[in-house]
Amino acid sequence: MPGKEGEEDLSKKIAVKTLERGSVVVRTITILLLVAFLSSTGLAADAPTDAPTDAPTDAPTLRNEMPSYLKSFQMTVNRQVRAYPESYFLSGQGDERMIALTFDDGPDGENTALLLNLLAEAEVKATFFVVGEKIQEYPELLKRIASEGHELGNHSFSHPDMRKLTNDAILERELLPTAELITDLTGLAPMIMRPPYGALRDESIEYLTEAGWSIINWSIDSFDWDTTQNSASEITEKVLQYSHPGAIVLMHTGEGREGTLEALPEIIASLREDGYQFVTVSEILEILGPGPHTI
Ligand SMILES: [Zn+2]
Repeated sequence: MPGKEGEEDLSKKIAVKTLERGSVVVRTITILLLVAFLSSTGLAADAPTDAPTDAPTDAPTLRNEMPSYLKSFQMTVNRQVRAYPESYFLSGQGDERMIALTFDDGPDGENTALLLNLLAEAEVKATFFVVGEKIQEYPELLKRIASEGHELGNHSFSHPDMRKLTNDAILERELLPTAELITDLTGLAPMIMRPPYGALRDESIEYLTEAGWSIINWSIDSFDWDTTQNSASEITEKVLQYSHPGAIVLMHTGEGREGTLEALPEIIASLREDGYQFVTVSEILEILGPGPHTI
């Protein structure tokens, strides 16, 4: 049976508990106010739950100054590259003056052929993220890309927004049929992929990583896809302005668009003058060894 001392202890304990409860309420209110403040400033708009607090300041990023409608995309890829450093890439690391030009959406006819002529002339090896439907249309061009020593990557079968697909559909309906076409035509089996629009859900990144894929986005957007700013001089200026060691540059084979082809000779010459070497994505990342990845 507790004596007076026991009763005093008990009432102290109750007092402490009440105080603790009070401070929990205060803390909860503080957090709610903070969240409300951050939401009102927009800072919490894309705040990830898994954001690392110790991200190095030289972490890979998408370096362009983005128009406001692409800022949330930029925040997402900058977060994803830190969350999945083993399988999701925007650029190579280090100080070596290497740069990887990448061309999406081909093979698509005359522009791809002209682009290959230009790259051969300049002795530049690049990386082509190709689309299954286009391979069916231009199988010979796909073979030519590979035979001239460029790297191939998988850019889906039908160019959908993969955020709207299940993980199974991404793999079974988009990546694997394209991979099969690439292997049948070239004997190569690339395990690098770039999602259309650079867009993937986190859990799809995890799923594809598990399936052995490396996901390659970019650190410099040439904006050659944007008809409001894709003259040759605008493309050139953008690429040169943001160039950095390890850069992966987003460009397009661009059927019917002239800007990219016109811009390339000056981009290549200027970057060479600055001491840059042109390499493939795998070379820059050193994830698959030099050159195309074979079966
Ligand atoms: Zn694309």
